[in-house]
Amino acid sequence: MSIIDLRSDTVTQPTPAMLAAMHAAPTGDDVYGEDPTVNRLEAELAKRLGFAAGLFVPSGTMSNLLGLMAHCERGEEYIVGQQAHTYKYEGGGAAVLGSIQPQPLEFQADGTLDLDQVRAAIKPDDFHFARTRLLALENTMQGKVLPLSYLAQARDFTREHGLQLHLDGARLYNAAVKLGVEAEQITRYFDSVSVCLSKGLGAPVGSVLCGSLDYIAKARRLRKMVGGGMRQAGILAAAGLYALDHQVQRLAEDHAHAARLAEGLLALGYTVEAVQTNMVYVHLDGRAGAFKDFAATRGVTVSAAPRLRMVTHLDVDAAQIEQVIDVFADFART
Ligand SMILES: *Cc1c(COP(=O)(O)O)cnc(C)c1O
Repeated sequence: MSIIDLRSDTVTQPTPAMLAAMHAAPTGDDVYGEDPTVNRLEAELAKRLGFAAGLFVPSGTMSNLLGLMAHCERGEEYIVGQQAHTYKYEGGGAAVLGSIQPQPLEFQADGTLDLDQVRAAIKPDDFHFARTRLLALENTMQGKVLPLSYLAQARDFTREHGLQLHLDGARLYNAAVKLGVEAEQITRYFDSVSVCLSKGLGAPVGSVLCGSLDYIAKARRLRKMVGGGMRQAGILAAAGLYALDHQVQRLAEDHAHAARLAEGLLALGYTVEAVQTNMVYVHLDGRAGAFKDFAATRGVTVSAAPRLRMVTHLDVDAAQIEQVIDVFADFART
């Protein structure tokens, strides 16, 4: 029985072609700036996203951490969503390691932050307050795509208030593919962007932080400080380059699979949130633990959450989605 793992799009295995690209990659010592494959990945992604420079890092968590620390000094503040990855799911790193104060706000239903609420949260220039420096957005936000018109408003807003604008674009390419635009049409509104190669793009490891030359030089210094300087990292960067060249457009398949899964569960009477990209949220309430155990006996791996998130990816095909729907159908009869 092959396992269908829907916990996250981080669980994908490198494909044989990706492994071949990793095997063939020229390498060097990246701390000395001498890994040609890392250099190529950083330059290539920065160019594609419209930035002057990029920085390869081991994880999205580190990318966001360096991204925030390169914008904010000790005692400064960033405004962020209450459920945002950078705030809620990264161990409080910006506060612990950067002494950066978060100012979390509730997200709107569409994954945006209300700019009137952001305005009200900006601290006046007064020594009682931390200095507000940055607004951080996330796209996709729990599978939701932020409208381009909102990004334009956020850009104007942050300029008007002297704030920087950072994007946690762990799933930037899901958003771009869903909108049918180049990723640059999303990233053009931001001062900095973090992109995960190890989510839907299917690389085993790595993220890239993009921004201006000065900003990335600062982030590079911080990367060494937190232990993120790697040596012959080109074998990992090669997987990222392969993913960018071969595994972006196929994200549309993941989105179609998620839509089909949601449709199947709705037909069975489950409460399912509207799907935009590769995430399906189904409300199991008190039956979440029971479902997790039941699904496991049928070869389907999920988390035990009352609001259960299932994520489609490279290693789940259309037939397996039908299998998952069958598991839900059988569970409904238990
Ligand atoms: C996964 C994720 C990250 C962090 O990436 P890791 O590589 O797991 O550290 C950051 N932001 C979002 C939105 C994510 O989903």
